[in-house]
Amino acid sequence: MSTATAEYELAEPLMLQWLTALGVDVEFVRGEGNTLYFVGPDGTEVPVLDYAGGYGSLILGHNHPAIVDAARDFFDAGTPVLAQAARQPAASRVAAALNSVLHREFGVTEPYFAVFANSGAESVEVALKHAEFDRVLKVKALAEEITGHLEAAGAAVASGTAVLPETTVAALGLPAGSGFDAVAAEVGGRLAASAARPSLFLALERGFHGKLVGSIQITHNPAFRTPFATMAPQARFVPLDRLDVLDEVIAAERATVPDVVVEGGAVAVVQREFPVFSAFVLEVIQGEGGIRVVDRAAAERIRAACDAVDCPIVVDEIQSGMGRTGAFFAGSLIGLVPDYVTLAKSLGGGVAKSAVTLVRGGRYRPEFELLHSSTFAKDAFSSALALRTVELLEADGGAVYRRAAELGDELIALFTSLREDFPDVVKDVRGKGLMLGLEFHDQTGSAAPSIAQAALTDTFGYAVAGYLFRVHRIRTFPTASATTTLRFEPSVLLTATEIARLDVALRALAAVLRAQDEHAFTAG
Ligand code: PMP
Repeated sequence: MSTATAEYELAEPLMLQWLTALGVDVEFVRGEGNTLYFVGPDGTEVPVLDYAGGYGSLILGHNHPAIVDAARDFFDAGTPVLAQAARQPAASRVAAALNSVLHREFGVTEPYFAVFANSGAESVEVALKHAEFDRVLKVKALAEEITGHLEAAGAAVASGTAVLPETTVAALGLPAGSGFDAVAAEVGGRLAASAARPSLFLALERGFHGKLVGSIQITHNPAFRTPFATMAPQARFVPLDRLDVLDEVIAAERATVPDVVVEGGAVAVVQREFPVFSAFVLEVIQGEGGIRVVDRAAAERIRAACDAVDCPIVVDEIQSGMGRTGAFFAGSLIGLVPDYVTLAKSLGGGVAKSAVTLVRGGRYRPEFELLHSSTFAKDAFSSALALRTVELLEADGGAVYRRAAELGDELIALFTSLREDFPDVVKDVRGKGLMLGLEFHDQTGSAAPSIAQAALTDTFGYAVAGYLFRVHRIRTFPTASATTTLRFEPSVLLTATEIARLDVALRALAAVLRAQDEHAFTAG
């Protein structure tokens, strides 16, 4: 850490050192559409073409005029931002607008209740907490039912209207001759033992759901997750290309508890399914895991496996949602009707921070509203901008969604042609609409030391991002957990000129990597 600078950096100094090493440590002073500007050494603004798109928060670009106008109108009207415990009409209208989109895209009519939050990870935590609360209430209801059955059976045995057969005693593994009290203690004990099990979440390998205490445990990347493993319940991870593992995990974890019934004058034991699984959490396009698309067949398989054990599905659309993939909800393109869906990133129109968790009516527990809250969630400002954002996305019969799909096709054509011309450099092209990934081949054997070194230290994508920024004034970054994949998430305002600039830059990059040209790669 350098103390020589006039200001001693206290806000993440290590991060700044790292940005400096890549040559991307500029301060952006202005943003408009897909362009960010920093002030160069000669005092003039230097434009940078932004394909990182606020990591997927800028479906409408930087400072979209209609969003900025909505912000101005909000303040011109003197609207209070923070007036909790009062009617929040803007938030209510956002919830209604999201419901109407969801109903249209998924062809369902059930209401989805909205719990607002401040960040993506927080909206995931809301889903995790709500799902666990729902499970705990299901356990409570089951326990009450079994307790009622025990009381009824005990009374029947005491009054002589029912007998306790030895087969029932044996079915519970109790010594022969045990009485009803022993049966009740055994059933109650097994119920208590099951209820004491920690909650269990299922998630996909390569999934990313945020970095808070709970959400980091369902985020697959071990580097992010394992240092904090003791802080929250662990998830079981399932590989997307081996969904048979899901059936195996469910079979291994599934549990029953004994219940008693009085049948034909005798007390019998029946096994009841115990609610073990809190939720299955997944992205329909894995963003930070390298832009990996979940297809319809996989979605159907996951839905069938989860339905069999009444496990709700949380679809994390924080990155894929809000129109980026050619539909408002990427999950609607594969028919995956969510029990929970999380939205954040672009929800604030690229200006405010906003997030929401939608919970399907049939699963919703209104009591949750009294247990979970945040000072800043559901504030009037972010809600007003979220409402304006949804209006803009929904305008003209979904023109934004169509544009995102068209632009995505153009970018995929560009990447595919790049791969055809540089098959030794470009490994794969993935994604949908404006959520795209370009994967590079392993470069650990490169003769250029900086390229090989970056590949060896798992920072190749960052080194490439540095090159694109310094030499071509294009901004993008690798996905967080798959650093040989560059992400492209521009706004729907993307122009033909901006696409052509990317083409030139990527072709130059591919040529540098092919030539293993140290000088060119470290230029700028
Ligand atoms: N879920 C997904 C799918 C994400 O892509 C992200 C952020 N990359 C998050 C959750 C976490 O969102 P935030 O950074 O706002 O906490």
